[in-house]
Amino acid sequence: MSSRRNFIKLLSSIPFAEPLFGSAQAAAAPRDTAPGQMPPDQMAGSPVGDPLPGQPWKVHDRTRPQARKVAPGMPLPTPGPASDAVVLFDGKDLSQWESIGRDRKVTEPKWKVENGYMEMVRRSGSLITKEAFGDCQLHLEWMTPTGTPPERRGQMRGNSGVILMRRYEIQVLSSYDNITYADGAAGGIYGLYPPMVNPCRPEGEWNAYDIVFRAPRFNGDELTRPAYLTLFFNGLVVHDHVELLGSTDTLPIAKYEPHPAEEPFLLQGHAGPVRYRNVWIRRLKGYDD
Ligand code: MG
Repeated sequence: MSSRRNFIKLLSSIPFAEPLFGSAQAAAAPRDTAPGQMPPDQMAGSPVGDPLPGQPWKVHDRTRPQARKVAPGMPLPTPGPASDAVVLFDGKDLSQWESIGRDRKVTEPKWKVENGYMEMVRRSGSLITKEAFGDCQLHLEWMTPTGTPPERRGQMRGNSGVILMRRYEIQVLSSYDNITYADGAAGGIYGLYPPMVNPCRPEGEWNAYDIVFRAPRFNGDELTRPAYLTLFFNGLVVHDHVELLGSTDTLPIAKYEPHPAEEPFLLQGHAGPVRYRNVWIRRLKGYDD
């Protein structure tokens, strides 16, 4: 994350709002903001990077179109864990998690647990699973609570993320009514692909991610099969077995570094607050296994 260090430093200096809980259903209707009307910091964040292989865009391209907004059907999917799932958060405690800081030091988790959810705590790092996972089906629900000050925009608003294998981030962001660069929106594979559509719910309401992930395969230092990812965002497919181009974590992104077949994943502590609940994972095998 070294190349994003300055930006992260900026974010960490921003005080967290006291989160309020309440329905944002009546908040402003979805709208698209023309680039010329945007506050200058709306597009602030990670720098524009190299051209993406096979795409007419660069990493974090400010000219890439915003994902089209779609209102998801209700209710949102909140399935309970199957009998072969590892329950990572059932609303009660952080026993399946540790905390990891920017210095990579692992300590006791300090996120807040209350009312059946866990909430990012400022300057307490990211959460990292104690267990390692590779190929998996992962379900989780997240929300940006209401009460974040309006001057916090773009990447500074409800920024977390699901960082699979410590390397491949599916962005979590307040994206109902908050423009940012397209590949940095909620449901985006950070720097690689925006979500195909944007079904994000308003602040104060829960969103659901259902992820199907196939880890990359390596033979020594050589990549023999890239990673593939499918994501249902509030029940809508926003990535369809898409090939990951490499890590989203460090610049230059979209490069693979060999790593073990199973690695822990992170819930990123970035520019919160963000809440999570109902987190469970199933290890995927093949047919006849
Ligand atoms: Mg993030």
